[in-house]
Order: sequence, then C-alpha cells, then structure tokens
Amino acid sequence: MAQQWGLCKSCMWWQIEPTANIADATLGFCIDEKLQSFQLSVSGNSGCNRQVQGEPARAKGSGAQPPTAKPVR
Ligand code: SF4
Repeated sequence: MAQQWGLCKSCMWWQIEPTANIADATLGFCIDEKLQSFQLSVSGNSGCNRQVQGEPARAKGSGAQPPTAKPVR
C-alpha cells in the first residue's frame, strides 16, 4: 500500500456514516492506525501524507463530533 499526500475522500482510512455520500463536505473519522487515537474529524476534501487510495470504511457515529464509532479497519 503506497502512501502519498492525498484527499480523505479517496482514502481507505476515512470512515464515514453508513449512508453518507462521498463528497467534499462529508465529515468522517480518520482511522489510520497512528492517527485514530486523536479522534480526528476530517471532511472529504481534507487530506494528509498518510493517505492510501481506497474506498472509505463505514460505521454509525463516524460523522459525529467527536466521532463515536469504533474503527472498523
Ligand atoms: S487524514 Fe489522512 S489518513 Fe486520515 S482519512 Fe484523511 S487522508 Fe486518510
């Protein structure tokens, strides 16, 4: 899995609500292993250099502030 700077909306570590759209303004929970303890709430057009291309994970509470969902990956 190659890491690079990229957007949350195309990152496999972005976890969003079960029925949320994959969109710039959608809020999700970053579940990257090294970042998940910070309970980062990130929008689709946020990003970082730990991005890994993939589909977002989904769980209820991922879009809450603070996120209340458990990481599913
Ligand atoms: S903050 Fe980085 S690792 Fe976390 S979901 Fe966004 S791009 Fe992925």
